[in-house]
Amino acid sequence: MAVSHVGSVWEQAVFKQEARRDLGRRAGKKGLNEGVFLDDLRDIGLILLQGLPKKEEKKTKGSRQNFATVVVGLWLGDKDYNVAPHLFIVTKLADVSLPKKTEAFQLAQQKLIGVRKEDKLIDDERQMIIIDEISTNLHAEMAIIRWLNKNNVGKHCLKDNLEIYCAGKGVCLDCSGWLTKHGIRHAPLSGAPSPTAWKNPITDSLFRASGEKLEYTKGFTDQTLSGFNKNFGGPYKDKSETNQ
Ligand SMILES: [Zn+2]
Repeated sequence: MAVSHVGSVWEQAVFKQEARRDLGRRAGKKGLNEGVFLDDLRDIGLILLQGLPKKEEKKTKGSRQNFATVVVGLWLGDKDYNVAPHLFIVTKLADVSLPKKTEAFQLAQQKLIGVRKEDKLIDDERQMIIIDEISTNLHAEMAIIRWLNKNNVGKHCLKDNLEIYCAGKGVCLDCSGWLTKHGIRHAPLSGAPSPTAWKNPITDSLFRASGEKLEYTKGFTDQTLSGFNKNFGGPYKDKSETNQ
C-alpha cells in the first residue's frame, strides 16, 4: 500500500520532533553541571515547591497531570535587544498567592545576589514574572519561551542567556530537545517523552504522543484533535483510506 504522506510536511514535522527528542536524550544528565545559575534556580524551585499549597486537581478529560511542578527560569537579559533580566516562576497545580509572590521575590533576590558583582541580577519586582495559567499542552518550560517570544526575545537570542530548572517531575524529552537545540541550559531531565502532548511555543504546532509514537496536528487546537478531518491529509489519512 502506498503511503501518501511520506515526505509530506506532516512527516517532516514529526521527524523534526523526533530529532528534538534525540537531542534531549543525548543531553543526558550533564545539564545541571553546565549551568551557571541552575543551583540557585533549583533552590528557589524546591523551596517554592515545598511551600506552595497544591491546587485542586483539575479533572480534565484524558489528563494525567497529578503532581505539582514549579519551573524556575532566569533570562539574563540581552543588551542588544534592551531586555532586562527576568526571573520566571511557572507553576502547575501549585498556587502562588500574593504573599507568596513577595516571598518568592525576596528568595530570588537572596539567591541571585552578587551574581553580577555590581548589583543584584533581579532587583525590581517587575523583573519577576509568575505564570500560573498555561494553555493546554504548553509545558511550563515552553511557557517561558512563549513569554519571551511575545516580548521581543526571539529564539535566536536565547542561547546561553536562559537557564531553566524544573522542580518537580523534571524536563521531558520534548522540552529538553527544544531547549538543547537553542542552547538553553536546563535540568533535571525526566528521561521520558511527554506522556500526553507537547506544543511548540513559537508555532503552536501540537504533537500528541502515545508512548513513543507521535501524531502531528499543526494548525489545529487540541480541542479539535478528535474531530480531525482524516481526508485532509497527514498521519491520519491512511486510517480512513486504503490508497492515495
Ligand atoms: Zn516538557
